[in-house]
Amino acid sequence: MRYGILIFDEPERNISRKIIHIDMDAFYASVEIRENPSLSDKPVVIAKHPKDTGGRGVVTTANYEARKYGIHSAMSAQKAFELCPKALFVPPNFELYKEASRKMHQIFQRYTDKIQPLSLDEAYLDVTTNHINHKSATIIAERIRKEIYTELNLTCSAGVSYNKFLAKIASDFNKPNGITVIPPDKAHDFLMKLPIEKYHGVGEKSVEKMHGIGIYTGQDLYSKDELELVEHFGKMGHSLYRKVRGIDNSEVKNNREPKSVGKESTFSHNLVSENEVIGALRELSVKVMKNLNKKQKHGKTVVLKIRYEDFQTYTRRRTFPDFIDSEEMLFQIAVSIWEEESQDLSIRLLGITVTGLDSIVFENIPLPLWE
Ligand SMILES: [Mg+2]
Repeated sequence: MRYGILIFDEPERNISRKIIHIDMDAFYASVEIRENPSLSDKPVVIAKHPKDTGGRGVVTTANYEARKYGIHSAMSAQKAFELCPKALFVPPNFELYKEASRKMHQIFQRYTDKIQPLSLDEAYLDVTTNHINHKSATIIAERIRKEIYTELNLTCSAGVSYNKFLAKIASDFNKPNGITVIPPDKAHDFLMKLPIEKYHGVGEKSVEKMHGIGIYTGQDLYSKDELELVEHFGKMGHSLYRKVRGIDNSEVKNNREPKSVGKESTFSHNLVSENEVIGALRELSVKVMKNLNKKQKHGKTVVLKIRYEDFQTYTRRRTFPDFIDSEEMLFQIAVSIWEEESQDLSIRLLGITVTGLDSIVFENIPLPLWE
């Protein structure tokens, strides 16, 4: 740091992960062409024909043939029509695209459960550990591309790197139907040469602002210090400072991942002694911990639910500084919450839930990531 007072922590680059970004090529248009091969080699625009809408409507996707005329998504259908009057306008059929997307995800799931969809046709995959125990993310990405092509008759582009930011930029680099790998030792050069427009997350307005202060490439961005970037771009300045250094530690978040794991029991007769309660909490702790282990998750917050004979129900939660990693620990915590919160007996339901879950990861096992 150039400043005498260390204002910001110098960020560290984590290169232990293997991330793939898959982006389907002209997805909606490609699905339509697959369904109706007579459209192939013609300019195809996925939108209602402007003549049918009185000029309203927006292009959702244009195939590469249509893009040659300057047509792109988010353009008005009317403008697209003016650019290429012979373009074929196909109204969107989202059910069809959803179905294709579901099948794509089935292919992803052969390799990992850590999948973060960004839209129907794009997703991040974390393959640091994967179902086929393959050490090369590049080979997994190639396999996925091949399976999507042979099974779905669709093409996609893939980016492979050690974080989401780089994987996303990489997938765009050799589009359509290409793959780009950015290994850790190539990231710096790659980012330095990249025009600022290509930095994912930098919108048009920010690009203008950057040009205004002389930032055109990654190299220009790299030469700015963090304080200056924060002054110009607020919070985004911090993230720009990191991204241009190849640092992005955000997780691949599976939207469907459980946020909590819990178990509750309703008793056929109310629990009326301490021993019965302790026995029930022991049993629940075992089940919850078993479930957590199965999902490779752990958390720091325990929620105890108690319902009394009169149906009054209470939940009490406690958060701990460390992950709760054994059934004994979970059991002790549950008992302590119960002892603190409840003196009454005659309990008809008990539940234990662990929330705020995180993945159990094995610390940075060094493996050859790239081949
Ligand atoms: Mg796409």
